[in-house]
Amino acid sequence: CCPNSPYRDFAVAQTEELCRAYPFNGIFFDMLFWPYVCYCDYCRARFEREAGAQPPEVVDWHNPTWMAFQRARERWMKEFAGELTAAVRRARPSMTVTHQMSPVLHGWVLGMPYSLAEHCDYCSGDFYGPAIQQSLVCKIYEAISTRKPFEFHTSRCVHLWDHVTMKSAARLETQASLAPAHGSAFMFIDAIDPEGTLNRGVYERIGRVFAKLAPYEPYLGGSLTADVAIYVSPESRFDFRENGVPVNRQAPGASNMSLAASMPHLNAVMGAAKALQEAHLPFAVVTPANLAALHRYRVLLLPDVLVMSDAEIAAIRAFVAQGGALYASGRTSLVAENGVPRADFGLAEVLGVSYQGTGATGLSFITPREPALASVVEPQDHLIHHGGQLQVVATTAEVLATVTLPYYPETGGTVLRPSFASIHSNPPGPTGSAPAVCLARWGQGLACYAAGAIEAEEHAISRDLVAALVRRLQGGPARVEAEAPRFVELTVFAKEAEQRLNISLVSLRDAEEPLPCRAAVRVRLRRGERPVALRALPSGEAHPYDEPAPGVLHFVVPDLETLRLFELEYEVNR
Ligand SMILES: [Zn+2]
Repeated sequence: CCPNSPYRDFAVAQTEELCRAYPFNGIFFDMLFWPYVCYCDYCRARFEREAGAQPPEVVDWHNPTWMAFQRARERWMKEFAGELTAAVRRARPSMTVTHQMSPVLHGWVLGMPYSLAEHCDYCSGDFYGPAIQQSLVCKIYEAISTRKPFEFHTSRCVHLWDHVTMKSAARLETQASLAPAHGSAFMFIDAIDPEGTLNRGVYERIGRVFAKLAPYEPYLGGSLTADVAIYVSPESRFDFRENGVPVNRQAPGASNMSLAASMPHLNAVMGAAKALQEAHLPFAVVTPANLAALHRYRVLLLPDVLVMSDAEIAAIRAFVAQGGALYASGRTSLVAENGVPRADFGLAEVLGVSYQGTGATGLSFITPREPALASVVEPQDHLIHHGGQLQVVATTAEVLATVTLPYYPETGGTVLRPSFASIHSNPPGPTGSAPAVCLARWGQGLACYAAGAIEAEEHAISRDLVAALVRRLQGGPARVEAEAPRFVELTVFAKEAEQRLNISLVSLRDAEEPLPCRAAVRVRLRRGERPVALRALPSGEAHPYDEPAPGVLHFVVPDLETLRLFELEYEVNR
């Protein structure tokens, strides 16, 4: 059923016929993506016609033809989605149309570009990962959904392959609560029993969660507000380690990839999201489609962005020139969008560093040199780092931390330790001088470069280091910030016309029972703004606050369990 075959016309005609025959309210096209790399005669002929080349049969992300083939696969899938949406509109113009957008977090094989959102009235998709995944997806959908609210789905069972084991009441409530915290719609997925019945008790439990959250709905809306944004590059959803892997043509209709590689960029994006969430730094997502919105943010994170076009680099340079701040890690800007490596980072001048080589590929350490950075990790002297650190030299940047190699070189995952008493761990060797973390001033802005994707490491202390760098790049306090346990997320929505901010706190703690905790929130209003009222939602009751300084408002939530939402109304002195 390749969409380049006559199947396309069949699917479009069937869609139109169904929509004319039945008064549907809306349609959700589920799973419109490539389950495998198609080399059918239609795909081959079309690629030859469009690109003047045969579709390559070996993965090579440095080969412009392979890269062009991947872009073609995405373009073809988007075109098919557009024809289906148009068929619905022809038949029943008032219907809402959307497509499954969960592949925003999936790899390149599915071939679904972010711009497919242009054929959706709103973004919608199902996900089954931890709470931070849901939080990140909401920011991606906020960035790419043509209309709001977007919609998030997840299963009421522990995962999709379990028909009976229900998520705990606390987990159901946490997942549903992330929806009002992001102004989104929410749906629990239930698999129908073979005899066509539903379990009444299940719906009563879900109903109790929705009954708690429905009263918030009239207060939702506005736009996600943050000082920090993470750059998500849809074109970087691959792994250079796949290079050389043949795509098997012999198994049409089956997954014809022999290697299910990871996605270093999206792993780093997820780690960056977790670092910001744990530090209660509200964040948003920027994609190539909304680069024009960069000026809204003070700090932009570029987590190991594998490919970057000249246009992306130009927009980011302009952002820093005008006073924005960057955190860039790993291979960011080293490879052009057609896969061809640049001689140096496209952002070399901005970052104040120059590329020298692949550097440490296995175990290495990050050793703070500067006292302010050292204090973040103390009493540790080093951070362990597994993801590799590029070899760079600082041209204009100041070196804040250096790369330390392990005491014993590793070969094939093992080390021979002839004389050291530690039988399991490999200690850091002598401190080197190669830069691990650098900070440069460029134009009116600042740029921090990390030779490895620190944000992708598993331990909290690595994320703490990234958060500390982001705070420093921010150059002053955030508009809204919180002191709360690590598992709490702070989100802020602005309703400029109504002169209100919606401030929400959600516990992402994954446990059977909620753990009540204390959170303190500090809001810095902009020049000329004065607080009028702080209301706890949905009751609308006044919530106590104090003003430690003019335009600064501070309030405490002594007993956060799952979700608290506040509305801050302000006035503007003219
Ligand atoms: Zn095909």
